[in-house]
Amino acid sequence: MRICHTSADMRAACDELRRAGRTLGLVPTMGALHAGHMSLVAAATAACDAVAASIFVNPTQFGPKEDYAAYPRTFEEDRRKLEQAGVDLLFAPVAAEMYPPGNTTFVDPGEIGGRLDGASRPGHFRGVATIVTRLFNIVQPERAYFGQKDAAQVAVLRHVVRDLNLPVELVICPIVREPDGLAMSSRNRYLSSVERERALALSRALQAAAELVRSGEESAEAILHLLRTFLARVPDVRLDYVAVVDPDSLLPVTNVSTGALIAIAAWVGTTRLIDNLLLQRHQVP
Ligand code: AMP
Repeated sequence: MRICHTSADMRAACDELRRAGRTLGLVPTMGALHAGHMSLVAAATAACDAVAASIFVNPTQFGPKEDYAAYPRTFEEDRRKLEQAGVDLLFAPVAAEMYPPGNTTFVDPGEIGGRLDGASRPGHFRGVATIVTRLFNIVQPERAYFGQKDAAQVAVLRHVVRDLNLPVELVICPIVREPDGLAMSSRNRYLSSVERERALALSRALQAAAELVRSGEESAEAILHLLRTFLARVPDVRLDYVAVVDPDSLLPVTNVSTGALIAIAAWVGTTRLIDNLLLQRHQVP
């Protein structure tokens, strides 16, 4: 596995692969890799001739009071996992490489960037859209792999790709969970064992919502009520949002019979976790 630290080096390495006629898949990450990330790598290696991964803790998607400095950085371990998984190229730039002095251009996804996590984390999706666009321009992958775990990010990136005519196919992979249902996240390592137990409330609330829908309930209000009452009972779990929305626009729906995204964000102690359930699979436009 070749490791590149500069955009110029990475671009040259990707050009070389593409010139050799190999289809290139990109898996962007912030590192602290777990089985969720590795499922994207597996999907990419299965479908592409060559796979590039990136590890970059992107400062512009963190708010001033968020965990940018504390975010887990486990480069050696990550490097080993990616190499073992057959990744060809690893891009691991420092912040000044992606945001050199004097850089002023950002990608603002507009209104959709202010919904769900974008409402709780102002500027978050502008940071995400900017870094992902920059990575796409450097790597120029045929396909890029993202997790359904970050459902709002998926919706925002679909908009960015469409609005900017980016020549890349987004491939969205299902949420990978721990055996007990907790959605895998780099932030799970912040949880104490008691918090880890309480964090199960998110996936359990979604399971209860799924059950309610299976029993014939179509009303978003009824689902929201169930989620709120379920989560209110759990100590140390403070709700950020629960939402039943259209998975493309992230706007609220009132009835889930034609499909919907049920999303939760909650603080467990000082750790903010997200989880979601997609009712009826999203169709690529
Ligand atoms: P991150 O390192 O948190 O920026 O995540 C990098 C990519 O991995 C994103 O596309 C995430 O949606 C995806 N990802 C993170 N956790 C999971 C998970 N539990 N299952 C599937 N994909 C995930």
